[in-house]
Amino acid sequence: MRPPYLLLDVDGVLIPFPDADGTSPATHDRHDVVPTGLSADDPVTVWLSPSHGPLLMDVIRTGLVTPVWCTSWRQDATTLIGPLLGLPSLPYVDLPRPQITTSHPNGYLWKRDHVDAWLGDKPVAWVDDDFTALDHAWAAERTARGMATFLVQPDPHIGLLAEHLAEKPYLNRT
Ligand SMILES: [Mg+2]
Repeated sequence: MRPPYLLLDVDGVLIPFPDADGTSPATHDRHDVVPTGLSADDPVTVWLSPSHGPLLMDVIRTGLVTPVWCTSWRQDATTLIGPLLGLPSLPYVDLPRPQITTSHPNGYLWKRDHVDAWLGDKPVAWVDDDFTALDHAWAAERTARGMATFLVQPDPHIGLLAEHLAEKPYLNRT
């Protein structure tokens, strides 16, 4: 059996949202990166936790999941974000670029329709801070149809914690 996918978001998961006072957790280090399409003299500041590399590598090394970036950073997650965390080059879901002003244009996460088609009938553990009740219903319905679907939803102001990956439901391969 192919291992389940482990889909990884970046914003709100690895890069926490700033608090109201504009600060980010003291656990995170500042980096300036230049996303594709921007000029080198117009870098973007991101905050990343050095703990996240080892945390994700512990999961990746089990070989029980297939990690794939699933983020509006798209390929930049592979080339810019992953290396800052010491992660190997991971594939990414080449998400569309819809003209939307909310991440839930139809009441559910904008990535979902594309991911649903991309997954086919594969099992998945999907880490994203932005699921709605409709996404959780989609996951339950998909699971009921035999395609294990586990949504992991960190607090976007805190980001990914060890406990989010500790349940490891994807290890239950019965
Ligand atoms: Mg996000």
